Amino acid sequence: MGRLRSELFFEKAQKIIPGGVNSPVRACKAVKSNPVFFERGEGAYLIDADGNRYIDYVASWGPLILGHAHPNVIAEVYFASKRGTSFGAPTWLEVEMAELIRECIPSMEKVRLVNSGTEATMSALRLARAFTGRKKIVKFDGCYHGHSDSLLVKAGSGLATFGIPSSPGVPDELTTHTISLPFNDQEKVTEAFEKYGSEIACVILEPVPANMGVVPPKEGFLQFLRDITQKYGALLIFDEVITGFRLGLGGAQGHFGIKPDLTCLGKIIGGGLPVGAYGGKADIMSLIAPEGPVYQAGTLSGNPIAVSAGLATLKELKKPGAYARLENLTQALEEGIREILKELSLPYQVVRCSSMLTLFFTDKEVTDFQSALSCDTERFASFWQGMLKRGIYLPPSQFEAWFVSLAHSEKEIEITLKALRETLREVG
Ligand SMILES: *Cc1c(COP(=O)(O)O)cnc(C)c1O
Repeated sequence: MGRLRSELFFEKAQKIIPGGVNSPVRACKAVKSNPVFFERGEGAYLIDADGNRYIDYVASWGPLILGHAHPNVIAEVYFASKRGTSFGAPTWLEVEMAELIRECIPSMEKVRLVNSGTEATMSALRLARAFTGRKKIVKFDGCYHGHSDSLLVKAGSGLATFGIPSSPGVPDELTTHTISLPFNDQEKVTEAFEKYGSEIACVILEPVPANMGVVPPKEGFLQFLRDITQKYGALLIFDEVITGFRLGLGGAQGHFGIKPDLTCLGKIIGGGLPVGAYGGKADIMSLIAPEGPVYQAGTLSGNPIAVSAGLATLKELKKPGAYARLENLTQALEEGIREILKELSLPYQVVRCSSMLTLFFTDKEVTDFQSALSCDTERFASFWQGMLKRGIYLPPSQFEAWFVSLAHSEKEIEITLKALRETLREVG
């Protein structure tokens, strides 16, 4: 498979766009490759600028749970755009979206739509600080919450991939208020609250982290966080930008039966267009302007085309059997990988939660960021290249989740497993 046009495009892109890409992980540096430039997506497949076809497990990093160019999503985008691209005034679609979100995730009593996950978490943080009158926040190493200043501390994937602990340009004065702790570590959280309890505004986390690879919470960890935040009067914020509508209609909070104070959404709720949302208890959300004094705004927030794509996506997901189908497909992928690992006597870890999966190239159990870092990233790079060569497009980093979509079928899983067996035979 030649990729001459991709190579040419990348060469030109690097001269005009920093690193040739508009988001760092796309550069494929962590897998020692140049990025593939894509032209089209069709269901479970991507077609690159040279006409090569790949089975896609990136899903635009999570949003495309229906696969590429789902006919209903495309139709809604088309009809919405014919009516006008943006009004800078409210539309009924936004109310419909907020109601649908609340119906699926009842803890989101009031909802504000924004344009990205970053905006959602950044705004939720401001709100938590305003509501509690406190400055400090607790997050977890390897959890990613977008690229706003306060949250750019030990922040998983993109940063793990490049080994940047934080980022230049973020003032110390801000990050001194950010406490980053090992995920799944109740003792460290307890210590932090014993020391700073009266200053902590919130604990924010990915309830199932997917930005250090998929790392499920240990039994009881989420309930523990619910209890300790309540005890100290801090808010619990679930960043469900990935897990929202991925682990089921109710997200991770529905899956585990834990009710956070605030929830952040993104990715799937935009159906491939830019939509984010945050929401939670009505008395907290009422502090948001113009109902309250906490300022947060957006020229294109609740954009009618983007919201139409999101609504069309959520309506597909509400159809009976959607999540059961995703579960079965991904389970088949997981079991197939386990068999191959056994057959080849490889000690790697397969971790799956619903339709997200990571193959960790380590023999250690992965429970937090530290243990994720024990992975053999060199070998992962060879593996990624081997899979690409065989027409399988995986996230170009060890510390990411593979996403299965409703456009995948048993056939794609079978092709993927065949490629995986061959590749692992080659690279070990
Ligand atoms: C992707 C992601 C974000 C940031 O969303 P953007 O739309 O990229 O700004 C925040 N939190 C989590 C958990 C994410 O995976």
